[in-house]
Amino acid sequence: MREPRSVGVVGGGLAGLALAALLGQRGHVVTVYDRDRAGGKLRRETSAGLGFDTGPSLFTLPAVWHAVLARLGEADPLELVPLAGGLGMHYTPFGTVPLPVLPGHAFYVDWQRYVRATAPLAPHLTTLLTTPPHLGDPAFLRASRALLAASGAHRSAAGWVRALELPDTLAHAIATHALNAGITPDAAPPLYAMLPALAGPDVSRPRHGMGRVLDVLTTFAQARGVTIREGVEVTRISGTTLHLNGTDVVSHDLVVSAVDPGRLAALRGRPASSPVPRRTVSGVALYGRAADGLDLPATSVLPPDDFRAFGTAVHAGALPASTLILVHQDGERLAVLVTAPATGRVLDAAHPWVQGQMEHTARVLGLPRLFNPATTPLALTPAHYAAGGHAGGAIYGAALPWWRGGPLHPQPYRVGRELWQVGTGVHPGGGIPAILGGALIVDTLMAQDSH
Ligand SMILES: Cc1cc2nc3c(=O)[nH]c(=O)nc-3n(C[C@H](O)[C@H](O)[C@H](O)COP(=O)(O)OP(=O)(O)OC[C@H]3O[C@@H](n4cnc5c(N)ncnc54)[C@H](O)[C@@H]3O)c2cc1C
Repeated sequence: MREPRSVGVVGGGLAGLALAALLGQRGHVVTVYDRDRAGGKLRRETSAGLGFDTGPSLFTLPAVWHAVLARLGEADPLELVPLAGGLGMHYTPFGTVPLPVLPGHAFYVDWQRYVRATAPLAPHLTTLLTTPPHLGDPAFLRASRALLAASGAHRSAAGWVRALELPDTLAHAIATHALNAGITPDAAPPLYAMLPALAGPDVSRPRHGMGRVLDVLTTFAQARGVTIREGVEVTRISGTTLHLNGTDVVSHDLVVSAVDPGRLAALRGRPASSPVPRRTVSGVALYGRAADGLDLPATSVLPPDDFRAFGTAVHAGALPASTLILVHQDGERLAVLVTAPATGRVLDAAHPWVQGQMEHTARVLGLPRLFNPATTPLALTPAHYAAGGHAGGAIYGAALPWWRGGPLHPQPYRVGRELWQVGTGVHPGGGIPAILGGALIVDTLMAQDSH
């Protein structure tokens, strides 16, 4: 793609915006279409008189972000501030432990042993997340070997953690992070169990909130001539022609999908994949005013008691008795994320299961209540996530089998001669680092395509 070309990006989430900025940097004329507001899962909302940035709360693996900045030739405007407590206090059924574990803690020696087991991968993780998966590429090959060396003979996060023979509390807390792939530790590759070691020491948030990530990507894109059209739904894709809101038609030289692969197939009039892929988890995210005097760490994590029972329930579309709950407090602002099956249903704060999970959370944290009782928190439910995202509101799209779940076996980045794809559904798990890495990979592949 040496000549400037016209590119239409379908979906203005963080992935679509990041790739739009990168393509704009190469001189292409880029238009981003979003059926709703740009930002996708990262939205600005108001609840109980307070402003909230919904969706992602923790900014991790900043080296991937730095790789985006380097390619754009930009300084970092995010003003990332380390988050006290890192990945948070974990309330496992065996006991409580902060991740990362700090010197002086009873589990510190075990934690160090665990960190050492991830050491072969540490210098290569950014390469793994940002480099096209070509085994002919020496850097990617080195990174893949490092991942295999760290993984050993284990194919699942659960097996890898078990082999370390860590104290139950620590093992359970670490295995919980496999759920960052939206699947249970026995289905996720070992990489996900390594993330607390690799990402834990460097957890941050922009000084002015996660919404800054959206602002900065928007500014970078617009500074490179990108047009962002909000409230414009792509209703059909035919070659490089996009049908907009069912009425207008535009043509581009190239099209990038930054939406769920199943959604893309439907837009192209292709049959849904058969058999229908299993889904990653969804959730109910409650945003509201903290109860008076509430003083929690920035992040508290309540893992499910039993990962297998949890997995069986969510994959059957049933509400699990014990689920993963994340609590983020930032002064008066409180966000509680209750993991739920991706059934696309409305599960608001008044739903008995959600209420039960909230009561459980308050009990575990030793509090009478979480939210200010005079206010009603805003609830973003699986129905909300399904509206513009993956089927059923699955946060990370389809649940890929373990051998396709890591960066070695992603979904195809190119789905047609003039059609590429980015976003969570393509580079699943890991949230923002995975999608930014995916945008860098697609930018590289599109640039190489002209040579
Ligand atoms: C509750 C929650 C907590 C999270 N916490 C973290 C965290 O702490 N850290 C982290 O790194 N990640 C986190 N994540 C994950 C992170 O938010 C996502 O990985 C990321 O925002 C996904 O970006 P995306 O661009 O791939 O997809 P999306 O944000 O889903 O964007 C897709 C966009 O496509 C648009 N669209 C869909 N169909 C069409 C169409 N036909 N035409 C035009 N536009 C269309 C949608 O409106 C949407 O804006 C969290 C996610 C959730 C939901």
